[in-house]
Amino acid sequence: MPTKRILYIEDNFQNRRLVKKILNAEGYEVLEAEDGLKGIAMVARELPDLVLMDINMGGMDGMEATAHLKASDLRYIPIIALTANAMKGDKERIMASGCDEYMQKPISRSVLVETVLRFIGPGDKAARASAE
Ligand code: MN
Repeated sequence: MPTKRILYIEDNFQNRRLVKKILNAEGYEVLEAEDGLKGIAMVARELPDLVLMDINMGGMDGMEATAHLKASDLRYIPIIALTANAMKGDKERIMASGCDEYMQKPISRSVLVETVLRFIGPGDKAARASAE
C-alpha cells in the first residue's frame, strides 16, 4: 500500500516543521506549501490523501483556498483547518468555508494524530523506519 500523503498549507515555517516531524514519525509523507495559491495548485498536481490548512495566510487565506477546492472536482479530499483564531464565530465561519474539521493552535500532537487517523487511517511506520 502506498504511503499516505498529507499536504500542509501553512505560511509559518516553524509550524510546518513541527507538523512534518509529528506526522513523519507516524509514517505519513508530508508535502508543504507556503500559501493558498501554491497550495491549491499542489493539491491538483499531487492529489494528497488529506490537506491540513492554515487559515491566516497572506494573499489567498485558508478559507478562500478551501472554498476554491470544495467547489472543484477535488472536493472529496478532506481538509482540516488549523488556526489560532478563537473569536466567537470563527469556527463557524471556517467550517462554512467547507473545511471538514477544525483544530485549534497551538498544535497538540495527540489531537493532530488522532484527527488525521480518523480521516485517512494509520500511516506506515514500517516504511518510515526502512527509509531512514
Ligand atoms: Mn499563518
